[in-house]
Amino acid sequence: MSSGTNGTALVAGAGVGGLATAIGLRRAGWTVRLLERRTAPEHYGTAFAIHPTAQAALDRLGLGDALRARAVPYRHARIRRPDGRVLAALPLERVERKAGRPELLISRPHLLDALLAELDRLGGADVAYGRPLTDPSTDPRAAAANLVVGADGINSTVRTAHFGSRSGVRAIGTVAWIGIADFETGVYGETWGDGRFFGMTPVEPGRTNWYAAVPEATTAGEVRAAFAGWHDPVPRVLAETDPASWIRYEMRHLHPALPAFTAGGRIALVGDAAHAMTPNLGQGACTALLDAEALTRAVAARGGPAGLPAALRAYDAERRRSAQRVALASRTLHRFVTGRRPALRDALAGLLPG
Ligand SMILES: Cc1cc2nc3c(=O)[nH]c(=O)nc-3n(C[C@H](O)[C@H](O)[C@H](O)COP(=O)(O)OP(=O)(O)OC[C@H]3O[C@@H](n4cnc5c(N)ncnc54)[C@H](O)[C@@H]3O)c2cc1C
Repeated sequence: MSSGTNGTALVAGAGVGGLATAIGLRRAGWTVRLLERRTAPEHYGTAFAIHPTAQAALDRLGLGDALRARAVPYRHARIRRPDGRVLAALPLERVERKAGRPELLISRPHLLDALLAELDRLGGADVAYGRPLTDPSTDPRAAAANLVVGADGINSTVRTAHFGSRSGVRAIGTVAWIGIADFETGVYGETWGDGRFFGMTPVEPGRTNWYAAVPEATTAGEVRAAFAGWHDPVPRVLAETDPASWIRYEMRHLHPALPAFTAGGRIALVGDAAHAMTPNLGQGACTALLDAEALTRAVAARGGPAGLPAALRAYDAERRRSAQRVALASRTLHRFVTGRRPALRDALAGLLPG
């Protein structure tokens, strides 16, 4: 890490995007103040898929070993019909051949702990819990900082204050349920039914990460009923996990896409604040990590505050279209999977290369 202070940054939000941004800025010698609305570090959530490109970003942030110590590879995943017939393979082995490393799965709390530990190891960041940034345009801490980063998630106050209200949060009418089963199913991938789907991935030895989407279900009993009769182990996973531990997740995204991820030469958005997307591609954490790494690399390359306008232009050019393409692809996949013509969908899925 460089010594000395190159500039001062205020980061709103201590999720994946905000913590990774704080780490990158500390490594570049910036003084960082991180404000988090929650009163304590969050240990809620199930699992994150980490694509090889996001693994490379974590390597550049000095977190690759911490990731690999807790993550498990994701392989041999299939797309199935509710009767268990395999329609296609998820292209994980193809991704692994191309990237030279597998897609990884890590528990969300483990990744957040690793980011917090690295920030602590670097020192010099002031992390304040229970301190939301409520009005970024008048807050004196924001006014005093050279750089303000909105990593404050889908309902970002930084976005509302500095990027207007044209782009807003849109519900897409699907509720997802996510959870962890305390056994390994050994059956991974997604099962697509009529307007609903169920997915399972590894997450750590002895446990399975699962997610389900059912448009009409509002209770655990209705979710279980919606998947009764599906192939093993789908009903078993739902029967043997405690609904009190399930997380109900209303699928939402940011629409329309923002025309810029930066404003005024000193404000930047990362992660869900910039491009919240549906979870279908499992790219929410990956894109937040890629944003944080790209932003802080651009800032580091240009030294102190005088270089910020150029750094933010470089960040926007590197990340905006790319992240928005992923968000659009995720939304399109959601429509495809839950569409009204499952027979056509299944026939098309069968054409996917493995
Ligand atoms: C509690 C929680 C659990 C999740 N669980 C999963 C999961 O199991 N699987 C999955 O794939 N995705 C999950 N997600 C979504 C996933 O974490 C994000 O899509 C992705 O990682 C992008 O991260 P982010 O840092 O941009 O946003 P987030 O992870 O949403 O982080 C934003 C942070 O900003 C804080 N914040 C909000 N407003 C303010 C404010 N005004 N001032 C200061 N701080 C503020 C929030 O409390 C939060 O900690 C979860 C998100 C949350 C918040």
